[in-house]
Parts: sequence; C-alpha cells; structure tokens
Amino acid sequence: MFTSINPATGQETARHPADDAAAVEAKIAAAAKGFRRWRTTAIGERTALLSRIADAFEANRAELARTAVEEMGKTNKSALAEVAKCVAGFRYYAEHGPAFLESSEVATPGGKAIAQWHPIGPVLAIMPWNFPYWQVVRFMAPAILAGNVGLLKHASITQGCAALIERMAREAGAPEGVFQNLAIPSSAVGALIADPRIAAVTLTGSEGAGVKVAEAAGRALKKVVLELGGSDPFIVMPSADIAKAAETAVTARLQNAGQSCICAKRFIVHADVYDAFADAFAAGMRAAHVGDPMDDATILGPLSSIEQRDTVVEQVEKALAAGATPLLRAEPIDRPGAWMTPGILTDVPPDSDVAREEIFGPVALLFKVSDLDAAITLANDVPFGLGASVWTNAADERARFERDIEAGMIAVNQMLASTPQAPFGGVKRSGHGRELGPWGLHEFMNLKAVMLT
Ligand code: NAP
Repeated sequence: MFTSINPATGQETARHPADDAAAVEAKIAAAAKGFRRWRTTAIGERTALLSRIADAFEANRAELARTAVEEMGKTNKSALAEVAKCVAGFRYYAEHGPAFLESSEVATPGGKAIAQWHPIGPVLAIMPWNFPYWQVVRFMAPAILAGNVGLLKHASITQGCAALIERMAREAGAPEGVFQNLAIPSSAVGALIADPRIAAVTLTGSEGAGVKVAEAAGRALKKVVLELGGSDPFIVMPSADIAKAAETAVTARLQNAGQSCICAKRFIVHADVYDAFADAFAAGMRAAHVGDPMDDATILGPLSSIEQRDTVVEQVEKALAAGATPLLRAEPIDRPGAWMTPGILTDVPPDSDVAREEIFGPVALLFKVSDLDAAITLANDVPFGLGASVWTNAADERARFERDIEAGMIAVNQMLASTPQAPFGGVKRSGHGRELGPWGLHEFMNLKAVMLT
C-alpha cells in the first residue's frame, strides 16, 4: 500500500494498493503482447492516440493539478502549467514525430544503405515526483510515437498522479499493453530490468538511483537513459541587465519550491555587480509569498515531504558549520507539513561538501568571482553537469560560456527551462542520453541499416 501525505498539512489524503507479483507479471506479459501489435501500426494511428491523450489531459486538467498539489505540494498554478506543457508535448510528437521517423539514404561502395527507424520494445520508465506528469510525458509521448510500449514505475509519493496518467491513456483509447502503471516499490526495479521482455530503461531521479539502475541495466546489457541531479550555476557578468537577472534568479531558485533538477542552485556573480545583484536578489527572495499552494498569489508552497524539507535544513546547518553566512536565513516553519522559508548563503567554501551537492529546496548559494575564468572554473567545480544560465551581453563571454561550461544545456540571459523541441539532458554525474525533440525519440529506437545494391 502506498500512502499519499499532503505536504501542506501533513495529513494522509489517499492510499493506493501496490501491485503484487502476479499483477506485475500480467502487466509485463501485456506489454510484450501489446508491443507485437503496436510496432506494426500505421503512424497515423499512433499520432491520433497522442492527440487523444493530449485532449484527455486538457479535459482533466483541474483533477490532475489538484492531485499533484495534494501529493507533492507544488502550487496549483504551476501544476496547471505543467499539465499544459504535457498537452504541448503530446501534440508536438503527434505533429512532428512522423518526420523524425523518415528513413535516410547513404551511398556505399556496393550501392546504397537505407537507415530506418524501428521500435525496440517495452521501455521501463522510473520517474520522480517533482514534475509528476511532465517527466513521464517526456518518455511516454515519444515511446508511443516510436511504436514502443511503456511501463511506468513512478515515485512512491505520487502514485495518485501515476494512476491518473494511466487513466488518461486508457480513456484516450490506448490499446491493451501500450501504456501501463506499475504500482511497485524501487526494490522491485532490479528484477524488472533483468526481465528479457523489457527492452530498455529510462530513469529520471537522483544520482544514487542512477547508479543502481545503470548497474542493473549494465548487467542485462540494456540501453539506459539517465536524467539525474544537478547543481546548475547562474552566472552574472557586468554587461548583463542586473535587475532582470536578479528578478529571474528568484524564480530560477524558487520554482517548484526549489525542487527542479534545472533550478539555478549556485549564483556566481562578478565582483563589479555583486552588491547590486545580491541586494536585489535578497529583496526578491524575502518578498516571495510563502503560503497555501492552492492560492494563486503563492510563490513558495511546502516542500514535497517533511523528509525532503529536513534534508534541506540539514544542508543549511552543514553550510553554516563550514563557515557560510546567511544573507537570508532558511528555516523550518513551525506548522504541520513540510514548510520552510527561502534562504541565501554566502561565504560557502567552494570545496565544502555542501557546495558540491545538489540542494533540492529553496536555498541559494551566492559566490563572488573576480573574472570570467574564475566564474567558469567555479561553475564547473561540481560533479554535476546538467544546465546553466549565463547573463552577459558580451559576445566573447557568451562564446566562452558556450564552449567551456560543462553542461548539457545553457540558457543565455534567461532562465533554463525544458521545451519539447530542444534536447534535454546532462553530462558528468547528471547522467547521459537525451530526452525531447527527435533526439529523445531516437534514444529508444533501432536504427536499422538496409544494404541495397
Ligand atoms: P529518487 O529518490 O532517485 O527517485 C526517483 C525514482 O527512482 C523514484 O521512482 C524512486 O522510487 C526510484 N528509485 C529510487 N531509488 C531507486 C533504486 N535504488 N533503484 C530503482 N529505483 C529507485 O529521486 P527523487 O527524490 O524522486 O527526485 C529528485 C531527484 O531527481 C533530484 O536529484 C533531481 O535533480 C532529479 N531530477 C532530475 C531530472 C532530470 O531531467 N535530469 C528531472 C527531475 C528530477 P521510490 O519513490 O519508490 O523510491
């Protein structure tokens, strides 16, 4: 049994029965059988299904949003925006997917080779709670379009969201076995990866889960995409619009209560504009309204769970013990649920543990640097390499950031955000492989060479 606890109140809101071994076996068998048919369907049948799932998400957006709010605490406004993004994701693959599947031809000494895209089979997706719909859609939409079928193992705390996604697919008319939710704990994942009927695995989650899933996939010699954690830098140079950078910095750190893999987490600011940026950033963080996630005026609701809140509070304590100074003190709020205030820490020693970890909550680390080289060195001085946001109006600085920042994505003079069109993913311990666009679709396909005379 999985229990949903509303992090805004600390109260239990629902219980979801777990699948037993027989149910899991039946679902894997249905996936294998469903794949045998789905792989041969016309592309028009697949795009029509994606469009109908988009319609189902749109029609049920209020229920989807409320369930996410109640299970993991995001604001209703951001949950509705997430559902809208899912709709756009399904529609993107419905509209553009067929072109991504077109064959290409190359000349060979013997004649020519045609490179064709074919599906590979049931894909197991292990997904996190932080964007409980969008993270799933990033794998689900391209999988369906490709002719693969999907099995979802969602986070334990968002089983209500998981059941709703399965319901949307069913109501949209997804054939048997095309998309199924497995209500299972993470301890059951290793055996699933080893099952010969599962073709490939995708994980969005923490570094620790990434190691376990990659190990299991390696033992089974299966393709794996890993979308893991990050400690993204947000770099501000003197030529930037400092007021806009500071205003954006608040959103970049506080979105989703600081619990996004691509939240800006380390703010690296040139000494010439440090004071101006720090003052405006601190004012913006201080003004962020903490409150009821159902209220549209709320910027910061609760964190996803009391454990998650306590982890972040412990990281703050660790930073203070290592010599950090609180420009704005992040503290737990004394009320039921997973509440805390936002914070900014300066003087964090760059070589301390906490400076090199991911802080998955509303706490910013603020660093002062003397020049561009120091900014890039500090930005790269973490084990992660997911995204970065760089603020400059100097073309030579921008070129240096593009070339030298170790990350899968760089946003210039804007907050980094995923979009269906652009590749999404990281390097270093942020994982490997890409989601979205044609790249995400092709990750789980067989590029077959047909040699012709
Ligand atoms: P998590 O604890 O790693 O959980 C993610 C998923 O993995 C859940 O379904 C979880 O199941 C499962 N899991 C955990 N340990 C596992 C194991 N040993 N073997 C197999 N599966 C396992 O991460 P989270 O706390 O939910 O999410 C936060 C993390 O995700 C952060 O590090 C964040 O940066 C990262 N993230 C990355 C991206 C990206 O695209 N790069 C996007 C969003 C989030 P249970 O819930 O049942 O434990």
